[in-house]
Amino acid sequence: MAVGIGFDIHKLVKGRVLVLGGVRIPHPKGLHGHSDGDVVLHAVIDALLGAAGGGDIGEYFPDTDPKTRGMASEAMLKKVLQQITRDWEIESVDVNILAEEPKLGAKKGEIRENLGRLLAARVNVKAKTMNGLGPVGKGQAIAAQAVVQLSRRDKWMRL
Ligand code: MG
Repeated sequence: MAVGIGFDIHKLVKGRVLVLGGVRIPHPKGLHGHSDGDVVLHAVIDALLGAAGGGDIGEYFPDTDPKTRGMASEAMLKKVLQQITRDWEIESVDVNILAEEPKLGAKKGEIRENLGRLLAARVNVKAKTMNGLGPVGKGQAIAAQAVVQLSRRDKWMRL
C-alpha cells in the first residue's frame, strides 16, 4: 500500500476555458497555464506519482516544452496511468477543489464521475471556498489538493 499527495494552483484569467477534473465549467474566466491549466488533474497526477515514487509532474511535462503547450491534462493523466497501472492498482482518490468562484456544488458530481471514469477507482470530490482569504478567496486563482491510495498488483507474492 502506498499513499501520495498532490497540490496545484493556477491563476484565473479572462479568455481561457475553465476545465476542472476534465470537465468544462461555464465561466467567464479560465485557468492560466502552459497546458489547459486543469489544477484538479495536475494535483491527481502528482498524488499518483507521489504514491508510486515517480517524482513530479514537471519531470514528465515541463512547462518549457513546446510539445506540451495547450496539452489536455487528460492526455497527461493517461500517459502517467499507463506507467503506474503496470505495477499499481488505484484504491481510492480524494480531492479538494478550492474555489471562491464559480461555485462548484452543482458540478462536483460530474467532476467525480469523470475522475472515476479516468482512474477506474473510488473517487471523492469536495468543493470548498477560502472564505474570502488569500488569492483563491479573492477569486484570483483556483487550487486543488489530492490524496491517492495505491496497492501493489503483485501483493500475493509478498505473503
Ligand atoms: Mg499545474
